[in-house]
Amino acid sequence: MDKPLVAIVGRPNVGKSTLFNRVVGRRIAIVEDTPGITRDRLYAEAEWNGREFVMIDTGGLLFNEQDPLKTEVTLQAQVALEEADVVIFMTDAVSGVTPMDEEIADKLRGACKPVILVVNKADNAARDQDALEFHALGLGEVYPVSSLNGRSVADVLDVVVESFSTAELEPGYPEDAVKISIIGRPNVGKSSLLNSILGRKRAIVSDIPGTTRDAIDTVLQRGDDTIVLIDTAGIRRSGKVQGSVEYYTVLRALRAMERADVAFVVIDAFDGLRDGDKRVAGFAQEAGRACIIVVNKWDLCEEKVMREFSEQVRKQVPFLDFAPIVFVSALTGMGVAALLDTAMDVAASHTMRIPTSELNRILQEAIDARPFSRKGRELKIRYATMADIKPPTIVVFVNDTSLAHFSYVRYLENQIRKEYSYEGTPLRLIFKQARKERK
Ligand code: GDP
Ligand code: GDP
Repeated sequence: MDKPLVAIVGRPNVGKSTLFNRVVGRRIAIVEDTPGITRDRLYAEAEWNGREFVMIDTGGLLFNEQDPLKTEVTLQAQVALEEADVVIFMTDAVSGVTPMDEEIADKLRGACKPVILVVNKADNAARDQDALEFHALGLGEVYPVSSLNGRSVADVLDVVVESFSTAELEPGYPEDAVKISIIGRPNVGKSSLLNSILGRKRAIVSDIPGTTRDAIDTVLQRGDDTIVLIDTAGIRRSGKVQGSVEYYTVLRALRAMERADVAFVVIDAFDGLRDGDKRVAGFAQEAGRACIIVVNKWDLCEEKVMREFSEQVRKQVPFLDFAPIVFVSALTGMGVAALLDTAMDVAASHTMRIPTSELNRILQEAIDARPFSRKGRELKIRYATMADIKPPTIVVFVNDTSLAHFSYVRYLENQIRKEYSYEGTPLRLIFKQARKERK
């Protein structure tokens, strides 16, 4: 099931990221311990009243952070409206209605999806009065909240999850289909790669609508395998949109990735790795998808050496060290068939469970071979279990979670990967306190 996408829009400094962090905070703490990622998060899964959703802080998507242009903010509102299922429009009780608020409201008014007008910084009941003037924006009910101290935030979240459409989208493909999203910055060759995949296979290809209004998924059959390419319309148009291209591309890619099993992170071999590529790679890592780093345009790089290029990539995106690097040319078709084979392999890793007894044996052997202690206290593993897949998630009950030092967790992960390589998928190890044993 797709998770609904909730976008927070509004001019700078109204408190968007404060609300975002408050809502998704708990989830972030669980998956935080990844080296090499220091960016602010602007996209995260969240949950309220048992309903899961994905939240986006559109303020963080501003690429021109110094002096965000008015037009860029309204463009964000427009794109959020196109892509999100619910829009939270945030304003500020202290500053009152500003011209920029009016401009954003113009974009949002009359939308055919829920727009929730939140007036932030209503830290106490007196400030609720200040919020009343926002009725003038013509967006219906006004919700005064304080993102800072949490006041009335729960009420807004109630409204958000109630407004999710209850209609569940029937996927038009088998449940075991492998869903792939092709992501990357503009011009790396995403749509060329898509065409190469579709053209070469002479497969049975069909287009079916995805969740967003203009998203199209393409289904293809490859032997016994069904592959779904997520949001092929987005891939085709990504490089050709006017205005804030990068913003649009990122939002669209995040959306596609949320629905995918495997992300093809495409980079341009000729250009080499750029900051934009690292950003995209970071999103893929964060989303917990299986990943393949696809080095495209290799036909232009006869003088380069694959091994050296790979080493460069590893150095620059260390947090995707589990991802295979595959060299292709979308133009000549080189490597494209092998890429799809690799995609099937990493998708299998993404859903693989280790039997509980095996898992406990591996961890016990690891800890026996290299015990870990700090301040005279030794880490002991009581029990481990596979709690989830996509990505594979292992919960380890230990005598003292403060002893689960990052480097040691890394060691344990590597020991697991020695026996179950889990190629192409992140592996999550979560440490929990075992219940105190009776004396
Ligand atoms: P963004 O640019 O919209 O993401 O805004 P931020 O979340 O960065 O917040 C801008 C400033 O407003 C920060 O100094 C916050 O501490 C402050 N702020 C955010 N929410 C509230 C609130 O509910 N009450 C008050 N008094 N200040 C807030
Ligand atoms: P997108 O914006 O990521 O979808 O990129 P496109 O697929 O539109 O490709 C951008 C440009 O790179 C186009 O001019 C393509 O013809 C070119 N291109 C894409 N793949 C390759 C490749 O494998 N080799 C070469 N030489 N050019 C390529």
